[in-house]
Amino acid sequence: MPRWRRRRGLCPGSRRAMCPGVTAMHTSLGDFLAQYTSAQQAYPATSFLPVDCPCGSACFRLQRAGSITRRICVKCSQVRYIDRFGDGVGWEEAVEDQGSEEPFCCDRCGGTEAYVCMGFSGYPEVPDLNGVKWFYVGVRCRACGLDSCFNDGKVGRSPLAESVFREVAGMLSR
Ligand SMILES: [Zn+2]
Ligand SMILES: [Zn+2]
Repeated sequence: MPRWRRRRGLCPGSRRAMCPGVTAMHTSLGDFLAQYTSAQQAYPATSFLPVDCPCGSACFRLQRAGSITRRICVKCSQVRYIDRFGDGVGWEEAVEDQGSEEPFCCDRCGGTEAYVCMGFSGYPEVPDLNGVKWFYVGVRCRACGLDSCFNDGKVGRSPLAESVFREVAGMLSR
């Protein structure tokens, strides 16, 4: 059973029963991302993937440089990257270009720890192309619950499926 879901079609009605791996918190963060990208971004997100650490924790400190996001597990301190290939290649260069990495800091409360849910857009204008066009890093402040989009970037490859979502999110074991 895939842990991600498409916003339309795959999980009608009893969404929770269809997608047991997705918590209520992550579902509503995905809903925020769907609304935000549909209203504010060129490529609306239609597929979603909650991010967690192999240790079981789902809470991270985050930094960004360019379209690369570094996530550090609050519980076990494991460092992973969210970017086109989820490998952090180019991080040092992006930090240098930008001057320094920019940490996540909640606009409302100043909190520095967040839950993360990825959003992905496909190529709805080219139905035959089962690819992922763009990724978004949706975050929910652990302290106050404010939702925002911390980063985004191009993916540009196939398929529009969990294998690519997990790779972009840095969730493949290395
Ligand atoms: Zn961890
Ligand atoms: Zn906050």
